[in-house]
Amino acid sequence: MNDGVKNMKMRQAVMTEPGNILFRKVDVPQVGDRQIKINIKNIGVCGSDIHVNHGKHPYTSYPVVQGHEISAEVTEVGKDVEGIQPGDKVTIQPQVVCGKCFPCLNGMYHVCEELKVMGFQTTGMASDYFVVDADKATILPESLDHEEGAMVEPLAVAVHAVRRVPSVEGLNVLVIGGGPIGNLVGQAAKAFGAANVVVSELSETRLKVAEQCGLGTINSKDEDLSEGILRHFGDRKADIIFECVGSNFTVAQSIEVARKGSTVVIVGVVSDLTEVNMGFVQDHELTVLGSAMYQSDDFDGAVHLLNAGKINLKSLITDRVPFENYAEAYSIIDHEKDRVMKVIIAMDPETI
Ligand SMILES: [Zn+2]
Ligand SMILES: [Zn+2]
Repeated sequence: MNDGVKNMKMRQAVMTEPGNILFRKVDVPQVGDRQIKINIKNIGVCGSDIHVNHGKHPYTSYPVVQGHEISAEVTEVGKDVEGIQPGDKVTIQPQVVCGKCFPCLNGMYHVCEELKVMGFQTTGMASDYFVVDADKATILPESLDHEEGAMVEPLAVAVHAVRRVPSVEGLNVLVIGGGPIGNLVGQAAKAFGAANVVVSELSETRLKVAEQCGLGTINSKDEDLSEGILRHFGDRKADIIFECVGSNFTVAQSIEVARKGSTVVIVGVVSDLTEVNMGFVQDHELTVLGSAMYQSDDFDGAVHLLNAGKINLKSLITDRVPFENYAEAYSIIDHEKDRVMKVIIAMDPETI
């Protein structure tokens, strides 16, 4: 390891403008006292990254270094760091928060008023090495490989979403949208004791993957969602509905198919102003909740579920792309939307 050497260079991918990724050689950053240096192994590409690639992410400016779903090996630790050693396998919680606003001071730092997320408003991890505050690291079990490690972040999104509800134990859960987040919300709900979990989705691939992960399915292209709900859950219908798409149509739908007294959790990132039937919300006495990102507890919860063998991550990976071909990840996603679920970038092409 040449980690101590100053001016050691590393590869870094920079998105200079929407759709254009440039590779540059930059200095490997030095480790501060409370920081760790990590050697990035895999990076997951997610829906928000795709928005950045299309210039449609409202809170990202260019140039930007992407990469917020990663798995890495620790190569160096600062002198005040405890509990993390070189060689540990880690993932990083990519939020940078102010520590001073109302949410930060009241246990809700994940919705900090000044929230910055690595890969969007601050430098992401699309580089060989990254230096980060040690308290942002979650140590991953040895049993997880680095591809799975890069998916602990989206699993933490799912764990957080399920935890927005007091309990899912014994309940009927409907997930609208079977992409990586919807799938993981479904798997997390099941792992937390939901009686029946059903995913509604249009894409054949995503329906197949949901089935592989032990979830019930409704092909909403062929079956009316309300009928699918009756088929799976009977008259009791869904107790909890997780909306994991974020489109106007599915957000409105998540309210319309709700049973009286049920809960709707909006997990999908909604970019438009959506018309929903608030009369229905009132009359059906629905509970409508939002879910945004996660806290470190949710990363721990994700690792706990993985250790218990309750989550299938591998089935979600449809494509692997070497780091040097980063842009190919986006063209695959753009051209084969229905087939692709999770694209994983490999820093070392030999690991593909
Ligand atoms: Zn993401
Ligand atoms: Zn704050």
